[in-house]
Amino acid sequence: MAEFGIPQISTGDLLRENIAKGTELGKAARSLMDQGQLVSDNLVNEMVAARLKQPDVVRGYVLDGFPRTLNQAEWVDAQLAGGSQALPLVAISIIVGYDELLRRITGRRLCPAGHIYNIYTNPPKVEGKCDADGQALIQRSDDSEPVFHERMKTFQEQTAPVIEHYCRQGRFEEIDGKGSVEEVTAAITSALRRLRERGKR
Ligand code: AMP
Repeated sequence: MAEFGIPQISTGDLLRENIAKGTELGKAARSLMDQGQLVSDNLVNEMVAARLKQPDVVRGYVLDGFPRTLNQAEWVDAQLAGGSQALPLVAISIIVGYDELLRRITGRRLCPAGHIYNIYTNPPKVEGKCDADGQALIQRSDDSEPVFHERMKTFQEQTAPVIEHYCRQGRFEEIDGKGSVEEVTAAITSALRRLRERGKR
């Protein structure tokens, strides 16, 4: 976001905001999310369509956690092809091994203001409290080990075909996610810079 001055649009964050506000969408999404299942394509696509009407997207944006099914990918491709700016969409997949991913997800703790910790790799100075503002840290209800395994199954079944879809079209980049936050950030930004240059030609 900082490097390119564009917003990040995370469908997971948007769904969690809906849950917090108690909207109809939030009510429909909550139990599916807690079971590691996907929210229905129509609901998620509509939510993304509404977000893409906001003015901050004109210079581009990063979609995070979307598209997650072939249906969502086809929907977003059609939206972008029909739009006035015909934005090129490239999918980026960050590759992390199963056990490392389990540690990152089950170890994740969040401050309500957005600071993110990991109890194994980046713990707060005082257990359970944010270093920046002292607020109590929380754990996402779907960041438990049993739900993690379900989320991975869902990924294999429904999201792996999305990777195939973008691979076939040469619109796919794989990033090694093993390293530190700084290393992975550098790998993503350099891939994006390269893709942007390619897009200009
Ligand atoms: P995330 O914050 O990306 O880990 O997403 C958390 C949960 O929100 C997922 O496990 C799904 O239940 C739901 N979710 C997020 N994005 C999508 C999407 N694109 N399609 C369907 N469900 C989604």
